[in-house]
Amino acid sequence: MSVFELQAFDNHEKVVFCSDVESGLKAIVCIHNTKLGPAVGGCRMWEYRSDKHALVDALRLSRGMSYKNAMAGLNMGGGKSVIIGNAKTLKSTQLLRAFGRFIETLNGVYITGEDVGITPGDMEVVHQETNHVLGLEGKSGDPSPVTAYGVFTGMKAAVKHRLNRDSLEGVRVAVQGAGHVGYYLCKLLHEEGAHILISDINEDSVLRFEENFNATSVAVDQIYRQDVDVFAPCALGGILNDETIPHIKASVIAGAANNQLADEQQGNTLKRRGILYAPDYVINAGGVINASFENDYDQQLAYRKVETIYENLSLIFECSDRENCSTNQLADNLAREIIAESSGAR
Ligand code: NAD
Repeated sequence: MSVFELQAFDNHEKVVFCSDVESGLKAIVCIHNTKLGPAVGGCRMWEYRSDKHALVDALRLSRGMSYKNAMAGLNMGGGKSVIIGNAKTLKSTQLLRAFGRFIETLNGVYITGEDVGITPGDMEVVHQETNHVLGLEGKSGDPSPVTAYGVFTGMKAAVKHRLNRDSLEGVRVAVQGAGHVGYYLCKLLHEEGAHILISDINEDSVLRFEENFNATSVAVDQIYRQDVDVFAPCALGGILNDETIPHIKASVIAGAANNQLADEQQGNTLKRRGILYAPDYVINAGGVINASFENDYDQQLAYRKVETIYENLSLIFECSDRENCSTNQLADNLAREIIAESSGAR
């Protein structure tokens, strides 16, 4: 396999493979682009089917971070890391510290944070070995509530554009993934009076949503088929594909998951079907926007900046209609232009 020829490689500046036999750490750090600043992106821990799946996931997520940070107007480049293995059984203090030591060797070119399988508490352990960590307690903290706020704000922009409604009251939303972001998103949706349908592979997680947010649970493979206004993917990527899109009845897709489209062409399919897709890295930028305030944390300022997601998405939706171009393609083009036109770190 040639790494350089992988479609997901896309001119990455650096890819580092890390191994620590004692702790069982196997990790990949991908640095896509540092033109706007140091590469910032979280660390995911996942039991991948193969090392190639892990590499492709890390590369796609890393490029997504370049585009996300550019579109959010941050002085940050894009990168991402993955730790290969089951977070429930393999994760240990020793492993996280070994990971931290590898991050330290990169001298700040890459700054990590939490993602799926990694908690804010884990980041405190990584921080024992390196300062190149965002989202620490007492600073910007857990990104999930802010990511959820950004998704909620972006969902409002999409619902305004497609359904001409200012509020989510009475709007039916199917949420895939009862995890960290899913929880805070459903809290906001419930407070606004939306009707929530929820699914997760972990049945226990769903119970909390039924009790706290009056949510209706739906079988994992049925969440795409629900008669709702909005579908909110908040689990893993690749879920908008040839098998799922034909069943989607929602007119808006707005959720937190990274890399929702199985490939770029699926954006055209959604557009042809009249489904308004909020590009994932634009709508889920709340966490990294919040983390960009890490060193001098001001919650009010951070949340105000997160609210710019509304305008960013509205602009993308309007241009997409005008230019008859899919929203994801439009966002990619804009992000690439921002990076290309930058004269160096902002
Ligand atoms: P999480 O691990 O807390 O939650 C993910 C949930 O999805 C878990 O409960 C898991 O059981 C569930 N899940 C997995 N496969 C599923 C399936 N097929 N159907 C239904 N549920 C399934 O992760 P999170 O922090 O809530 O993040 C969710 C998504 O949002 C991820 O894609 C992540 O990359 C993205 N994201 C998160 C943040 C953040 O601040 N946490 C920021 C940006 C993007």
